[in-house]
Amino acid sequence: MSLMIYLNGKLVPQEQATVSVFDHGVLYGDGVFEGIRAYNGRVFRLEQHIDRLYAGAHTLMINIPISKEEMCKAVCDTCAANNLTDAYIRLVVTRGDGDLGLDPRKCTTPTIFVIAASIQMYPEEFYQKGLELITCSTRRNSPQTLDPAMKSLNYLNNILAKIETIQAGVPEGIMLTADGYVSECTGDNLFIVKGNALIVPPLHLGNLGGITRMTIMELAEAEGLEVREEMFRLHDLYNADEFFITGTAAEVVPGVKVDGRPIANGKPGPITQRLRKRYQELTYAEGTPIE
Ligand code: PMP
Repeated sequence: MSLMIYLNGKLVPQEQATVSVFDHGVLYGDGVFEGIRAYNGRVFRLEQHIDRLYAGAHTLMINIPISKEEMCKAVCDTCAANNLTDAYIRLVVTRGDGDLGLDPRKCTTPTIFVIAASIQMYPEEFYQKGLELITCSTRRNSPQTLDPAMKSLNYLNNILAKIETIQAGVPEGIMLTADGYVSECTGDNLFIVKGNALIVPPLHLGNLGGITRMTIMELAEAEGLEVREEMFRLHDLYNADEFFITGTAAEVVPGVKVDGRPIANGKPGPITQRLRKRYQELTYAEGTPIE
C-alpha cells in the first residue's frame, strides 16, 4: 500500500515523494533527522524531538523555513493521512538543492519530509532473553570533529560499527570514545546498574542526547534510584549488576552478555525490567494527540 508522505508542505503519495540528485542531503549527508514513535494515537515526546532537530539545524546553519509548531503539525498530519495510531516516524531536513560544490550557500531552501510507517517491533525474545553485544572497533566520532550530539544525516560512523555487529551476528554493538570510555551503541544509548545506582555515560563524552535516555533518567529518579552521569570503561560494564540499551525504536532492551562475558548472572535484571515497564506505561499515558 502506498504511504502518504509529507514533502515540503504537501502530503503526496510515496511514488511522488522524491528528492533531487542535487540535494545536499544526498550528495553530502548535509542535514538532520529524527526517529519518533506514536503510541495509541499520540506522538511520544514530540516537542523534545523537534527541539533536538532544530538545535542540530541551528548548529549546521540550516534555516528551517517552518516553525516548530508547524513541524509538529506536519508530523501529526502525516500519521493521520496514513490512519496510523501506532507508528515509527522519520523526519528529515536536508540543506536542500544546490550544485556539486560543498558550499551550503548554493542551497537556498531546505528539503523537509516526514515518513510515518507502521512500526516493526523488535522480536519479543530480545526483551525476554536479553541481548548479546560486542564492542565495535570503530570508535564513536569525537565531538571535536563531528559532534554526535547532532543527529545529522552523516551516519557513516554508526554504519561502520553496525557492519561489525552484523559480521559478529549480534543486533547491537558498543562504541567507545577514542580514549576507551564507553560512549553508546550504534543506534541506542546504554546504561549500567550498580547496586541502587543507574549510571549513564555523560553527554560531553560525545553521544546522542537520547530522548529515551532522558525519559529513563526521569523514571529512574521517580523510582528512587540514584542516577549518575559518569564516565566508565568496559571493565565496569563487564562487572555491572545489570545493563540495558535505550532508543525510540528499541525502547528498553536488557543486555546480558558483552564480548563473551555474561553480565552478572547473564539474565535480564529486575531494575531493567521495572524501568521497561514504567517506560511502556508512560508511552501509553502521554503524548501529543495526532488529531
Ligand atoms: N544514539 C544514537 C546514535 C541514535 O541514533 C539514537 C536514536 N536511534 C539513540 C542513541 C537513541 O536516541 P532516542 O532515544 O532519542 O531515540
